[in-house]
Amino acid sequence: MKRWKAVLSLLLIFGFISSPGFAANKHNKIVVSMNGRKHTVTEVPVLMDGQAIDIGIPNFIHQDYTFVPIRFVEKYGAEVSWDQKTKTATVVQKDKEIKMTINSSDVYVNGQKQVVDKVLAPKLVTFSNKDTRTMIPFRLVAEILGHEVGWDNSNKVPFINTKTNKVPDNNSNTMEITNVLVDKGSTNIPKIIINGTDNFKYSTALLENPHRLVIDIEDAKLNLKNIPFENGVGILNVNSGPISKINITQFSKSPDVVRIVVHLSEKVDFDILSGKDNKSLNISFVNRVGKIEKENIDGKEALVIYNTNKPKTNTMKLKNPDRIVIDLLDSSLEAGSYVEYNHNIGFIEKVRVSQFEPDNNYKSNDRIVRVVLDVKNGISDPNIKIDTYDNRIVIIPETSIWETINYSLKGKDRTISINANKKTEYDIDYNSHGKVMTISLPLDSLDLKEGYASINDGLVKDIQITKEGNKAKVVINLMRSAEYSILSNRVDNKISVSLSRDSNIKPSDRIIVIDPGHGGKDPGAVQNGVNEKDVNLAVSHKINEGLKNKGYTTIMTREDDVFIELKERANIANRNMADLFISIHSNSNPNANVSGIQVLYHSKDKTNVKKEETYNLANIIMEEIVKGTGAENKGLLAREKTVVIRDTNMPSVLIELGFLTNPNESQLLNDEVYQELLAESIIRGIERYFEIY
Ligand SMILES: [Zn+2]
Repeated sequence: MKRWKAVLSLLLIFGFISSPGFAANKHNKIVVSMNGRKHTVTEVPVLMDGQAIDIGIPNFIHQDYTFVPIRFVEKYGAEVSWDQKTKTATVVQKDKEIKMTINSSDVYVNGQKQVVDKVLAPKLVTFSNKDTRTMIPFRLVAEILGHEVGWDNSNKVPFINTKTNKVPDNNSNTMEITNVLVDKGSTNIPKIIINGTDNFKYSTALLENPHRLVIDIEDAKLNLKNIPFENGVGILNVNSGPISKINITQFSKSPDVVRIVVHLSEKVDFDILSGKDNKSLNISFVNRVGKIEKENIDGKEALVIYNTNKPKTNTMKLKNPDRIVIDLLDSSLEAGSYVEYNHNIGFIEKVRVSQFEPDNNYKSNDRIVRVVLDVKNGISDPNIKIDTYDNRIVIIPETSIWETINYSLKGKDRTISINANKKTEYDIDYNSHGKVMTISLPLDSLDLKEGYASINDGLVKDIQITKEGNKAKVVINLMRSAEYSILSNRVDNKISVSLSRDSNIKPSDRIIVIDPGHGGKDPGAVQNGVNEKDVNLAVSHKINEGLKNKGYTTIMTREDDVFIELKERANIANRNMADLFISIHSNSNPNANVSGIQVLYHSKDKTNVKKEETYNLANIIMEEIVKGTGAENKGLLAREKTVVIRDTNMPSVLIELGFLTNPNESQLLNDEVYQELLAESIIRGIERYFEIY
C-alpha cells in the first residue's frame, strides 16, 4: 500500500497517465556488427513499469536473448561506470555490484565469479549508423539486481518491474534524512547531496512552469538540524548556477515520504547517483552529450557535438600516441559509458567518447565526458578550432591544407595526394641535394588554400602549399633522401606520389644515438666494487668508435661522468631526428647466481614506430650479443614506462650488458676485452637491423 501512494503522487504531478508507447509492429529486423561479424537481430522495445523505454539506441533480441544498451540500467536507478583499459563495465545498485567485461562470460557479482552462457557476454555492437555501443543482457543484469523481469507474450516484448522489488523490504525500518547540502565541483555548477541513515528508495520528476526537480524519498522521515524551517517547509536559498532554492517537506506520514523540490532557473538535465556507501544521493545538473556528427560548416568539414546545454570545455594535447582531448565538464554521456565514431576528417582518424572517471586534474565527484580525437599515423602537432553555437560544439581541424591534400603512412611507404578540381597536367621536381620535392600545377586547377602542416614521420618533415605566379606549388620538405614513384596519370585530377626512404642510404646518413646509462651523481648499480655508470660509459665509447669507423653518424648523450635527466636523453635523440637510439646499462639481481643479457623495448606502437620493429631490433641485438660473447639470453622485455625507450620517436632499445651482482660477470664487464666483444656484437646487430629497415 505504501508504495502505491508514492507512485500515485508522482502520477498526480505529471497530471496524466501515459500509455505504453510501443506497438507490436515495431519489431524490425536490423543488421548489426559484433566482433567484426554481421548479424541480423530483432529490434524490440523494453517496458519498464509499463512504459517503453527509449534512449535512442535500439534494444534487440539476439539468439533468443534481449540485449539493451548499458545506459538502460540507469533508467531503473543503477549506476554504471566503465574501465576503458579492461573494457569492463561496473553496474551498481544498492548492495549489488556487477562487473562484466566485453566478450567475457565471466560475470562478477559482489566479487563472486559466475560463468554465464557465452551468448550472454556483453558486446560492443556497431549499428548501421556506425555508432558502437556496449550492449548487455537485459534479463541477466536485471535479475541479479533483484528486479522482476518477464516476457509480455501478447505484445511480444520483455518487461521489467522496478516497483515490485523481489528483495523483501524491511518496512518497519523507516530511514532518516539527516542533511541536504549544496556542494561545488571543479566548475561553479552546484551539486546537491542528500544524506540519510539507510538506502534510498526514491523517484524523480523534472517539471516545467516553473522549472523544478521533484525528488520523492519513500520510507523516510526528516531529521534535519542545519536547515531553517518555515511552516513545515525547510528552505535552502542557493541562487547559484541553475538552482534558485530547495524546499524540503515531510510530504506524507504513513507512508513516510520526504519530498525535495529543487527550484531551477532554466530547463536543465540532471544526474542522480547513489553515494559510495548507498547512504547518500548526489544530484548534479548536467549537460547531456548526444551524438557527434560529421558536418559541413561554412564550407569546412567539422565535427559537431550535440549537447542539451553549453558545457565548459578543457582541451589538451596528449602524446604517444598523438591525440587531442576535449573534456566537457558537468556532462553526462547520453549513449552510456563509451561510444566510438569512425569520423575521418583532416588529421582526425577516429573519435572516442566516454564518461570519464575524474583523474587528478578534477574533483572526484565531477561529471566529465571526454572526447578523444585520434590523430592519423605520421601527423604531428595537429590543431583544432573549437566554436560554440547554441548547444552545439563545433570542432574544425585547423590545418586547412588537408582539404586539398591527403597523406598516409603504411609500412615504409608514404603516399601524398593532391585533389585537383579538374584533370590537369603537373610537374614534379625532386631536389635530392636540398631534400625537397615540389609539385607544381596550374593555379586554376586547385582550390588553393595556402598553408602548412608539420609531418615529422622520419622521412617527410612538412608539407606546404603556396602560390607562385600562375602556379600552385605543393612543397614537400624531407628529412633525408627519398625514393619516389608517381602513381597518377600524366593528366589526372588526383595527383599521387609515393615516397619511401632511399634504400641506398650511405652509413653517414644514419644517425645513431648512444646513451650510456646513469652518470655523475647517479652511479646506477654499485656491486663487487664496480660502478654501473663506468661500465656503461666504457662500452658506449667502444660502440661509438666502432660505428664512426664504419662511417655512421653518431651522437652520445654523455661522453663523460655527468648526470643527464632521462627526458633529456630522449630529447637529444628526437632533436637530432636520429634513426636509432641505443641505451647501455648493466644489471643487478638479489641472486648472485643470475647472469646474462636482457634487452628492453617499448611495449606499444610509438607515433612512427611499430612495436614489431623495435621488437625485431631488440631480438637481432640479443642474437648478436649471445653469439659474440657466449653470455646467457635472459630475455627480451617489453616495457611500457621506461622513459628513454618510450619517449624516443625512433626505434630504440635498452641493453642490460650483464649482472654486476654476479661476481664472474662483474669481472668480465670490467674487462676491456669483454667490453670490446660486447661493443662489436651490438654494432653487428645494428648493421643487421639496417639491412632490413
Ligand atoms: Zn641502469
